[in-house]
Amino acid sequence: MTEIKRVAVIGAGTMGSGIAEACAKGGAETIVVELNADVLARSEANITGSLDKAVARGKATEADREGTLSRMRFSTSIDDLADRDLVIEAIIESEPAKVSLFQSLDRITPPSCILATNTSSIPIINLATATSRGDKVVGIHFFNPAQVQPLVEVVRALTTSDSTVSAAADFCTATLGKKVIHCGDRAGFIVNRLLVPYLLSAIRMLDSGLATARDIDDGMKGGCAHPMGPLELSDLVGLDTLKAVADVLHEEWNEPHYAAPPLLKRLVAARRLGRKTKAGFYDY
Ligand code: NAD
Repeated sequence: MTEIKRVAVIGAGTMGSGIAEACAKGGAETIVVELNADVLARSEANITGSLDKAVARGKATEADREGTLSRMRFSTSIDDLADRDLVIEAIIESEPAKVSLFQSLDRITPPSCILATNTSSIPIINLATATSRGDKVVGIHFFNPAQVQPLVEVVRALTTSDSTVSAAADFCTATLGKKVIHCGDRAGFIVNRLLVPYLLSAIRMLDSGLATARDIDDGMKGGCAHPMGPLELSDLVGLDTLKAVADVLHEEWNEPHYAAPPLLKRLVAARRLGRKTKAGFYDY
């Protein structure tokens, strides 16, 4: 089985940054590749800040901090991946962008390298067939924030080999310290398939005027012991991301509970995208 020691994370936005931090913390030599130089610089600063906080809180030592940073490299070029064992793609949720990236990764990385995607909704098989190594393409779906949340979904496409699934799952468990659940290549996997209709129902409830955002969120926190309410969680995920995932689920399953409600569409049109734009269902 491929031993995974050298990793690249492509895309250093909300998810990529946390995934890269988790990989380097776990001991993998990690290259972070991001198109946008400002986002890349912010990612490096965020990771350094997160490690500083861990040291200040006594959750990591100064040596852990230095070790993690020494295993990380930040780059705006994809060309430097010829010695990687695993690439985890975490770029924008656009199928053409991901297909084109997987075609490039197939050329640039060694044939033994596993190509993983963090996509929330794009069929893994569509990325696998963009490469000449469909057996080595797998979904590794992280949760936000990726350096903190304990779960990953390992997603097997029709072409993915047993050894790729095992290598990916072992890396997530042994290096990243995550709990792994396995599922097939159907839009939504396990968690979003159940979570997204719930978030959309909360948005419909708010739009109907039944209750305020605060009361809906307090209801689920107090009544069901959820750590966040559905509207707070939607703001954290990003309303554009939520709408994009809902659209793909709706297209895949053609069930009305996956259809993006009008209020969500209007907030996205207004660029009120949640925490990342400092306004969504709440102001930040
Ligand atoms: P994001 O918009 O915060 O970050 C994406 C980054 O990718 C941007 O910084 C962009 O500049 C960069 N990028 C775009 N094309 C690139 C390329 N060709 N090479 C290098 N960098 C490129 O998005 P995000 O929320 O981090 O989501 C990333 C992926 O993770 C998506 O597939 C999304 O569905 C998935 N995901 C998101 C969440 C979430 O809660 N946000 C959770 C699980 C999975």
